[in-house]
Formats: sequence, C-alpha cells, structure tokens
Amino acid sequence: MGKAKKKFPYDVRKKALLWSARHCCLCSKQCGLDIELHHIDPTLDLPHLNAIDNAIPVCYECHAKLEFSSLNSPRGSKYSPQEIKDRRNQIYEEKTRHLVPVIIYGPSNDLGFPKVQFYIQNNDGALNVRVRCRVEIYVNHKLFGTPTRHYSGDHPWVCNPGLTVFGWFDLADPNKLEKRPKYRGVPPDKALGKDLRLRIHLIIIDVFEREHERIPVEWYYGWEKQEWVYDP
Ligand SMILES: [Zn+2]
Repeated sequence: MGKAKKKFPYDVRKKALLWSARHCCLCSKQCGLDIELHHIDPTLDLPHLNAIDNAIPVCYECHAKLEFSSLNSPRGSKYSPQEIKDRRNQIYEEKTRHLVPVIIYGPSNDLGFPKVQFYIQNNDGALNVRVRCRVEIYVNHKLFGTPTRHYSGDHPWVCNPGLTVFGWFDLADPNKLEKRPKYRGVPPDKALGKDLRLRIHLIIIDVFEREHERIPVEWYYGWEKQEWVYDP
C-alpha cells in the first residue's frame, strides 16, 4: 500500500479533534497543537483505513508507544484494537456529553388506534440537536414492520431547544411500512396480534455531528385500557 493513501481526510480530522477537545485519548492529556491522529489498524483497505472509526487522537508520547507496541516487543501489556477504540470512545463521550440535552420521547394513543402518535421533546434551553429515530413493530415477538421515512432512522428530526416535535404513523397502512408482512388476505388491523410492541432506537446527534446512541426501549399496547405502556 502506498503511503499517500494513509491520510485522514479533513472532515475526519476535524471531527476527531472536536470530539476529543484535543485531548490524548490514551493518557487524556490536553495537547493543544501537539496532537496527532493514529491509524488504529494500518492494514485495513480503503475506505475503512481512513474512516473515523480507525482514528484515535494521541499525544506524541502515546503515538510513539502505539507504533512501538506494534513491533512485537515482549515487554508490558499491549493495547488491543478494541481496547483502543473503547478508550477513545470513553474520552469522546466525556468531552461531548455536555452537548446532549435531556430528550423525552414516546408513543401515545391520542390519535386513536391503529394510529400511533409519537413525540420527541428537547428539554434543554440552548442545545441544538438532531435525532434519528427507528421504530420496529413487533407482533407476537416477530418483526412486523418498520414505518417509513422519519421512523426508519434515515431521516433525522430537527429538535431545537425547548421544542416538542409530534408525528404519527399508522400500524395498519402496509404502504407506509418497510419490510411489510404478508397479510394473506387478513386486513392489516386484524393482523395485529395480542402481543403488540414498539421497539424504539434513538440516536442523538450533537452540534459536532457525534452520535449518542440510547439503549433501545419498548412499549407494549395495553388492549384493555387502550394505551401504550412502557416496558422497562
Ligand atoms: Zn498521551
């Protein structure tokens, strides 16, 4: 592989330096100008070689140690690539979590079943974020479908400070569901079985375009009271 290829593009460098606030991601020292980007796995092919996941900002000393440890020295405990990435992500998280507002979100039955109203609320007074939301509908523990567009995870919601954004999707409209099921002649609203669940994947994108993923959570439909119930 030619040396010219092993170079992080400007956008990757910018993000890595902003996300770390120019701290070394191994010894956590504030580096200012004296910081470099190390290729965690130098044997990868393009484009993975110069992708942001393969970059770690480090100080001169730590960079030298990383290069040295790849020379198979018998001394000390080497970093595994995964440990380097986890440590880097820990520093990124520490240096960007103040950019993440309190986000409140969930489904409601305000529009009447089988429509689902969904809201995302930015509960902060200053922080601009975008939010990726992916909804998976499960019927009797099988994936039934994913609503298109703003519930597919591909179309981020703009969530300005103090704003509550509402949307909705229709569980019984097969034209608006990705990976839609075969109804086999049964009307879609009749196909929604006893155990009906929504699994919500949420990713909050901060002003520096770092993605903060939340643990997926589920709501099930309580047929008696006709409401969505959070399932911890
Ligand atoms: Zn260092």
